[in-house]
Amino acid sequence: MSIEVHMFGCLNDNYGFLLHDTQHNLTASIDTPEVEPINAALEEKGWTLTHIFNTHHHFDHAGGNEALKARWHCTVVGAAIDAQRIPGIDVEVSDGEIFQFGSSRVQVLEVPGHTSGHIAYYLPDEKIAFVGDTLFALGCGRLFEGSPQQMWQSLGKLMALPDDTVVYCAHEYTASNAAFAMTVEPDNAALRQRAEEITELRAAGRPTVPTTIGLEKATNPFLRPASKDLQRTLGLTGDDLVAVFAETRRRKDHF
Ligand SMILES: [Zn+2]
Repeated sequence: MSIEVHMFGCLNDNYGFLLHDTQHNLTASIDTPEVEPINAALEEKGWTLTHIFNTHHHFDHAGGNEALKARWHCTVVGAAIDAQRIPGIDVEVSDGEIFQFGSSRVQVLEVPGHTSGHIAYYLPDEKIAFVGDTLFALGCGRLFEGSPQQMWQSLGKLMALPDDTVVYCAHEYTASNAAFAMTVEPDNAALRQRAEEITELRAAGRPTVPTTIGLEKATNPFLRPASKDLQRTLGLTGDDLVAVFAETRRRKDHF
């Protein structure tokens, strides 16, 4: 495999990611939360920035596009349906589309909800997904521009990926997400164990990202509206998974 992912902190709690193809000497920055740490990471690794893959238009994801493009003359890839809000966009991509990045295939998944034009980048051969602010470790993005129905459908697309897919989420929100998750699904043994591990990781100053689809399906309340334990805590029963998801999201917004 000729793909390497380099992860580093940006701003308060964002992660920057560089996706590097060693064979073709290509490097993509997944979003551009902050210019200086991205440039520093490129210099540290000795890599040349050739691409930016934007997940959505928010400033802590696309704010560095223009400065990085000016310095590196890189190609900016983003959602066709959100092209007006992605600074410097060169290549517009849509749901299901697969493009080549060096030796790797990259599949685009439209996952609206956090924003209307949010996309994820999935490398099926490497089993890696960059999901922006759609899915977090033990959490999901706030619904700024979409409905619970829409977000639940988007999360369903990510849940359909293989369990061992490595998921790079864009923020370190996991400790507070874990505290919330414990209030809504307290009898989930896998969640309890994970919450302890997260406490240890954060106490040691270590990241909780990346995660995997399988781990999130077992512990993330936003992917578990079918859980009887969760439904009981929320006072909702039955088959309306969107209603359970919506109530979970509403409670987290006020947590
Ligand atoms: Zn965002």
